[in-house]
Amino acid sequence: MPIQWTKEVEKYKEELVKDLQDLVQIPSVLDEAEATSEAPLGPHIKEALDWMLEKGSGDGFTVKNVENLAGHIEAGEGEDLLGILCHVDVVPAGEGWTYPPFEGKVENNRLYARGAIDDKGPTIAAYYSLKIVKNLGIPFTKRVRMIIGTDEESNWRCVSHYFEQEEMPSIGFAPDADFPVINAEKGLMDFDLIFHSAKQSEERSSLELHSFRSGERYNMVPDFARAVLTPYRDQTYLLQEFEEYLKAADLTGEYFIESGELTIDLHGKSAHAMEPDDGKNAGLHLLSFLSNFKLDGRAKAFCEFAAANLHKDSRGNTLGIAGKDEVSGDLTMNAGKIRYSQDEAFIGLNVRYPVTYDMDNAITALASRMKEAGIEIANKKDAKPHHVDGDDPFIQTLLKVYEDQTGDKGKLLAIGGGTYARSLEKGVAFGALFPGKEDVAHQKDEYIELDDLFKATAIYAQAIYELACKK
Ligand SMILES: [Zn+2]
Repeated sequence: MPIQWTKEVEKYKEELVKDLQDLVQIPSVLDEAEATSEAPLGPHIKEALDWMLEKGSGDGFTVKNVENLAGHIEAGEGEDLLGILCHVDVVPAGEGWTYPPFEGKVENNRLYARGAIDDKGPTIAAYYSLKIVKNLGIPFTKRVRMIIGTDEESNWRCVSHYFEQEEMPSIGFAPDADFPVINAEKGLMDFDLIFHSAKQSEERSSLELHSFRSGERYNMVPDFARAVLTPYRDQTYLLQEFEEYLKAADLTGEYFIESGELTIDLHGKSAHAMEPDDGKNAGLHLLSFLSNFKLDGRAKAFCEFAAANLHKDSRGNTLGIAGKDEVSGDLTMNAGKIRYSQDEAFIGLNVRYPVTYDMDNAITALASRMKEAGIEIANKKDAKPHHVDGDDPFIQTLLKVYEDQTGDKGKLLAIGGGTYARSLEKGVAFGALFPGKEDVAHQKDEYIELDDLFKATAIYAQAIYELACKK
């Protein structure tokens, strides 16, 4: 008779919730001010890592602390290694919580805490799944290693350090994103378009742009933009047009004149750069609006470029970098940071490209086209795409396990973001957020539904059994 994983999880429910509460009560936020050689990411992060490792050794697992940046909990035997990659650091609580963020209060069948879904809940689920398989006394054919990172929310120093010293698992999953299985993650490239065009035209009647500012992060659609201009004689007309523009685009904004300067603010809608079309880019809207006026020469080039090449074109069609593939969908492009002043003029882009796309080639071609327009491409940062073939038996096993435990069809997901799974050579994200559930990671009143916590535990237990206990 096959093992009833849900029944096995049933036996551990209380203990599991209690442990999760203990773990979320450690406010393991990066604290570099309090960092020491013993606690390189701060005392609470070390406390959370120690807590996990002590739990592991208390339950009879082999554990290892890798220089207080990461650690592992291991069971089983065999040549191959199955990795389960989790993390115990959390982002700061932030304001406005209904429940204390570091308590783990259970209400409405939900456990509320910072880290409940990202990633302490899934970490405890994975831990109990390994404990359940071990306690059933089923012989292993592989080693199973839970790898515990402590810097996922910041700089991934944990895993980069860990894998410099420790074995890379032959297969692995990270319970740090969504079910069913994310096997394709687009490549991510940030770069700046720097405008070197001539500083001034001598035309007197033109509207002078002093400064422009929008966006703080490459990976967000900016929801606010501010332009500071010299007031000029057609100003009433400009402001009327601004009102019209806002109305037509269903946006809001305001303007004021102070010490001889006209300031125009525009409010858009923020969104993650994974899908810029979910937001309204305040910066591009305002640049596009300004491009309709007779600006000074340098500002004219800047605004017109944005209006013609970036505004309402999140796929890079006009720039000539568009691309798509079946596995991962469209290339997306977000103008996340826009700056214009006496000293600098640049637009910072975040491009997310499909797994089969040749970004090196595309960026070289783009750079030579831009050069002709007096624009330089600089400050490039690239993270290559991550993809594990969907036909791989490892992936097929995860899908089957998901179907067995949920009764739902398991399918492969491709995303524009980067999950923890990409630090494994052959790794995928596998849970723990179920399809259709609200994603509350990094938000106030973060929670995990207890039923989902238990279901995830059953899924991970069966996955360990199928992947590491069978021949
Ligand atoms: Zn996470």
